Amino acid sequence: MNQNQQLFAAAQKHIPGGVNSPVRAFGSVGGTPRFFKKGLGAYAWDVDDQRYIDYVGSWGPLILGHTHPDVLEAVIAAAKNGMSFGAPTAAEVELADLICEMLPSIEQVRLVSSGTEATMSAIRLARGFTGRDKLVKFEGCYHGHADSLLVKAGSGLLTFGNPSSAGVPASVAADTLVLPYNDVAALEALFAEIGEQIAAIIVEPIAGNMNMVQASPEFVQAMRKLTENHGAILIYDEVMTGFRVDLQCTQGLHGVKPDLTCLGKVVGGGMPLAAFGGRSDIMAKLAPLGPVYQAGTLSGNPVAVAAGLATLKIIREDGFFNQLAIQTKKLCDGLIQVAKETNTIFSAQSVGGMFGFYFSKNIPQSFADVMNSDRTRFNAFFHGMLNKGIYLAPSAFEAGFVSAAHSDQDILDTLEAARSVFLEIK
Ligand code: PMP
Repeated sequence: MNQNQQLFAAAQKHIPGGVNSPVRAFGSVGGTPRFFKKGLGAYAWDVDDQRYIDYVGSWGPLILGHTHPDVLEAVIAAAKNGMSFGAPTAAEVELADLICEMLPSIEQVRLVSSGTEATMSAIRLARGFTGRDKLVKFEGCYHGHADSLLVKAGSGLLTFGNPSSAGVPASVAADTLVLPYNDVAALEALFAEIGEQIAAIIVEPIAGNMNMVQASPEFVQAMRKLTENHGAILIYDEVMTGFRVDLQCTQGLHGVKPDLTCLGKVVGGGMPLAAFGGRSDIMAKLAPLGPVYQAGTLSGNPVAVAAGLATLKIIREDGFFNQLAIQTKKLCDGLIQVAKETNTIFSAQSVGGMFGFYFSKNIPQSFADVMNSDRTRFNAFFHGMLNKGIYLAPSAFEAGFVSAAHSDQDILDTLEAARSVFLEIK
């Protein structure tokens, strides 16, 4: 047994499934998860000293690559001054100001410690603000693991949601309505029927949890118009897309302003930090100003805030996003080209530093489309690439990420690996 295998066996003794978050277990692709010991720039090393070009980047946060010197320096300096106070600090004011400056739809923001907390709190706030209970989400979108969000659609448009995890009360799931992504007609029908009962729509405006699926412009417009017309709140879950697809997240790309936005991943620069914010009249309902309770011992943690601030300052530099988008597109265009040359049925797309690739002829528009891609081939591709030192997300339902540290040579090496793996798995 190598070190990874030994550690995975040992991990299972005291950690359920050997992991602290399920997808890490390689459940859908099979095999032994890699245990990492070090990261630098675009690379991560496992405990067997294998180096990988890392396209997971901690599932999105590492937009500057691993251990960026400025981020590291900021984190060390902050930690030396105190790990946590549970009281306000100047740096969190600076981060709040910066977020509001970068994202015009956010007038006020609250810092939390995970994406799950951000979405859970935003939903409670939307319900508290509107005095309504019903929540609309879309099939294939993931918004963290709060009870009301672990819900699958029943069949038919207006059937109430069923829990998709044990431990979620049916009564909680019943208030979550699940519609197909990018289906304007279904959304219009739902609002026509019960629009006045809907507290909020929560959506990933570019979905990254069913591989990568982009909302159509019509879908985005319909969500904005219908929520506005029916007094419901539009919540953008930009935990993944925030400061990843564009400096103004998807809001810069689509030109639509949501009422509330959830941020995570990049905003924390690799540390446990997330945020939710938006219209100040809504945010004013939060405790201590208003009746909606929300709190956190480590919220606005100074070490995490330091990592977030250092990261946001760099991604705001002139040309940063342009270069990141070019680099990510190079990877996708290259993969498409190599697939063509090897007669592989394949498609790929990217926005900013986020990408998706699919073993299907066309780019998916919905969860159903993603389900129709060739997952057996994905699994074979994943393992072939892993063997060649390319670390991709261990699931066909996850987006990928390029960082500013990924060089032209890294992309070329990845394409070279992909060429031989495409041939191997034919
Ligand atoms: N929303 C989205 C869009 C996400 O991608 C994630 C995590 N992948 C979450 C929410 C939950 O964030 P966390 O894992 O930090 O709780």
